[in-house]
Amino acid sequence: MPKNKDFNITFLILRLSILYIFISYLRKDKKKSTPFFKILAKSFYTSFIFSFIFAGYVFFCLLVHLPGWKLIPESDDYLLADLHSHTFRSHDGIISAFNNLKWHYNYGYDIVAITEHNNTIGSEEANILAEQNSSMPLVLKGIELKESEETSEEIEKNLGQSEEGLDETEETSEETEEAFLIGIGDCLNLVKSVKMVRKLNLSQTTKFIDYVKNKDNAKCSTKGAIFTVANKLDIEDVQRLTVEGVDGFEIVNFGHPDMSNEVRREILKEESLHGLKLIASSDWHGWSGYARTWTAISIPKVRKLNRNKWKGLVMSALQKGSENAVIPITAGVIGKPSTLRIVFAPFFEVFRYA
Ligand SMILES: [Zn+2]
Repeated sequence: MPKNKDFNITFLILRLSILYIFISYLRKDKKKSTPFFKILAKSFYTSFIFSFIFAGYVFFCLLVHLPGWKLIPESDDYLLADLHSHTFRSHDGIISAFNNLKWHYNYGYDIVAITEHNNTIGSEEANILAEQNSSMPLVLKGIELKESEETSEEIEKNLGQSEEGLDETEETSEETEEAFLIGIGDCLNLVKSVKMVRKLNLSQTTKFIDYVKNKDNAKCSTKGAIFTVANKLDIEDVQRLTVEGVDGFEIVNFGHPDMSNEVRREILKEESLHGLKLIASSDWHGWSGYARTWTAISIPKVRKLNRNKWKGLVMSALQKGSENAVIPITAGVIGKPSTLRIVFAPFFEVFRYA
């Protein structure tokens, strides 16, 4: 995932400098006015000192695991899953497969999908660990891919815009950004590297969906599931990806909580029309982190069953149109930040990740 803009250090120093100049202006002694360049120089000096203290705060929040929420199901009919998380095997992940599973275990998850960027190595490592230790959460193999640029254009062409809508199409293609997709499935072990992803051209949405759904893989009996990551989505993406055949959407992604109300409404509309599944994911990369998102999967008496049977049941529950309920759960409200929160983003955002 791309880095959050709020962590940009230049922005932080500028914000602090402006704040300092503003305070200096308010406290200015009318009789003895200080030259502006002196205030400016002092403001930068003070900002650097504050930035240094802030760096300590960031390190504390990111590296010290503070106690967080744990969800405990009171019924045997629910399994708790996190269908989107990362390890060292993603370029921006800082946690081992073992510690990823341990973290998830501590916060009540029964099932974890490890979804590295462009490879399945992390999920295969985690899967081996989970198979050796039954107290670990069960691992679903996964991968996270970004759609390629030509995909969006190609799909828009394929959607067959009418002649009178041509101008509108041009406008849309400029606005459309590529979405991120998560593929989950037991037969993903072909995708071992970025090279393989390129070779199979999986970053093209339709190919990726066919691949995860095992359309060309007769050896694999379990169908995989595809979800859209709740990052950089617009209304057109939601409509387009529903047509393309995703099983559902992340309605909440703890790492990227800033979904607009319009996009959320569109997802809810498509969900009710097409039987899509909605999930709440952590998108955890190991940067400390509270657990505040769970996806409950309702399967009658599932906790009484041997956990070897869970994978197959969960995978079919995640399919679009299946009868089983998939329920996104959050602790507290996660959504578009308030103005106050945006102003103090460097402090709030670090704490949010903590
Ligand atoms: Zn991710």
